[in-house]
Amino acid sequence: MSKIIQYSTIGALMSGHFAGDFSLQNSHSPTLFGLGCSCGISGELTICNGEFWEATAGESLHQLADRHLPFLQVTDFVAENSFEATNIQDKNLDQRLAERLAIKNIFLAVNVKSRFDELVIRRPQRDESQTRTVKEMSDAQQVDTHKEIAGQLIGFWTPELFGRISVPGFHFHFLSDDHKISGHVLSFTAANAVVDYQVKQTIEISNPTSEAYSSLTIDVAKVDELIGQVEK
Ligand SMILES: [Zn+2]
Repeated sequence: MSKIIQYSTIGALMSGHFAGDFSLQNSHSPTLFGLGCSCGISGELTICNGEFWEATAGESLHQLADRHLPFLQVTDFVAENSFEATNIQDKNLDQRLAERLAIKNIFLAVNVKSRFDELVIRRPQRDESQTRTVKEMSDAQQVDTHKEIAGQLIGFWTPELFGRISVPGFHFHFLSDDHKISGHVLSFTAANAVVDYQVKQTIEISNPTSEAYSSLTIDVAKVDELIGQVEK
């Protein structure tokens, strides 16, 4: 069972630390799976089979060339457990998983494959200046609703206890089967889906080493509020 490897925290990201402090040049595992964002939160990243897809508003979906990243959460994913689900949505997937194992205190890597009846996703605008605030980034995002779209949700279930490290509950990014549509998932419904998951006992977190990060003011009450508004 491989661990979750994480660069930075959702708390640092929501405190405005968007700089690409982490370099991922040597990461080409064919089973690499996860999510993140690109520099300045210019794009939502979905990592599937070791490929990094960057979804940015107003741009066609493309693979990321510059892998200097502010936030990343990845693992080597193996579908150790699998079930077929009917009538699932963002609001009941936790119950469906909880029927199989006690999830409230553990991490899971989760992969949901379906032709989704409806999927709502979000992409940020590119910002090369990297000077905008979390609110400015959030307000400028593009939200799209897709119907009858084939693809997969790639992401993690994080216990509430770790809610300042990662987004508590589910955090999913979407990648369409034709590799044209991607983004941060706001909601989904599917009449039929295959849910694969793997329990992850260990999470390894690397903090940025920059001066900017060391001196960053992190107001945890504000972070909690922003995670609720921006990431859920
Ligand atoms: Zn996201």
